[in-house]
Amino acid sequence: MDEENRAGAPFCYLDHAATSPLRPEVEETVLRVFREEWGNPSSLHSLGARARRVLEEARAFLQGTLGASRVIFTSGATEANNLAVRGRIQGKRPCRVLALATEHSSVLETLKAMEKEGHRVTLLPVDREGVLRMEELENALGPSVRLLCLLGANNETGTIQPLEKVVPLAREKAPNAWIHVDWVQGYGRSRFDLDSLDVDSASISGHKLGAPQGIGALALRKRDGLQPCLTGGGQEEGARAGTENLPGAAGLAKAAEKAFENAREEWERLEALRRDLLSGLEDRAGETRLNGPREGGLPHILNVSFPGVPGEVLLHHLEKENVYVGTGAACSGKRKGGSHVLAAMGTPPWAAASALRFSLGYTTTPAEIDRILEVLPPILERLRGPGRKG
Ligand code: PMP
Repeated sequence: MDEENRAGAPFCYLDHAATSPLRPEVEETVLRVFREEWGNPSSLHSLGARARRVLEEARAFLQGTLGASRVIFTSGATEANNLAVRGRIQGKRPCRVLALATEHSSVLETLKAMEKEGHRVTLLPVDREGVLRMEELENALGPSVRLLCLLGANNETGTIQPLEKVVPLAREKAPNAWIHVDWVQGYGRSRFDLDSLDVDSASISGHKLGAPQGIGALALRKRDGLQPCLTGGGQEEGARAGTENLPGAAGLAKAAEKAFENAREEWERLEALRRDLLSGLEDRAGETRLNGPREGGLPHILNVSFPGVPGEVLLHHLEKENVYVGTGAACSGKRKGGSHVLAAMGTPPWAAASALRFSLGYTTTPAEIDRILEVLPPILERLRGPGRKG
């Protein structure tokens, strides 16, 4: 990637929630495993044993970071979410499922498929900041609920759910529910312990924390409880067939190690940068609307609307300045119909249509925040036309 574009503008990447660049230490680990540990972990000879050791070391490390008794490697969080949902209810007697209305599409679309099998899905409403409405949850819970999906940290707005309140209530009112948390955007940023939170499974994804795309995992609190989605050679103790992505698994563990090394300081650093970005935009960008929490959410995600200018138009104008941001979830960026997350939060359509998601990460510097604040206001003024500040 060029550090400067044709106009010589400095490179400014604020789309870490879509994907983070590879960490140098991860690149080193991945290349070493590609070169030196290319055996098949299932082979019975010594090359297989070496590969297996690399795989199990990565697994053990991740288990420790999540308070899990088992980690199943997958191709990413989409597959991990599919494994949690399908592994729990697919082909079983029709049951009730609860999930947040703001869930990632890998959960929502999988639940749609499960509805076709006869399962009844209720999407739980959220408030203006994206936080689950507790009364509605309480009313929906019951013994017929077999699965409760909770997007622990939202990828579009940074909203964090109060799991320490939600999970005990769910355990009390829905004792047969499997509780699954998508922790993709929170992993490596703050402590998340399946055992102490009393959560059954959690999904994580490598490329959100500086590991390669195409590796992720489903972490389990207990060893059993899910049927496999992929069948074949019986890898991952039968939970997910297919030769393991060994460089990816080692890379994911290395990325997690680096992220947890200074997670608290990094949280504070990003929170301060996010705060500067938000107050700078509110000062200089004319009319704005914050979508999501002002404080208390993820430190690296900021979703703001700029009324009067379509988000996608703004994104491409920023790109000409070598500034990269998102309009919402990268995986639905090409899909028509606006953000289901912003709609569920009651965001008016005009505001949702002009939303940008700025997402920060380990490479983000104060200079990048300054750069956004320098280039965005004149672009907005130009696009909004004379006489219109917002
Ligand atoms: N859940 C969340 C919250 C995400 O942000 C993403 C990535 N956009 C996923 C799941 C899917 O992860 P992956 O890209 O590894 O399939």
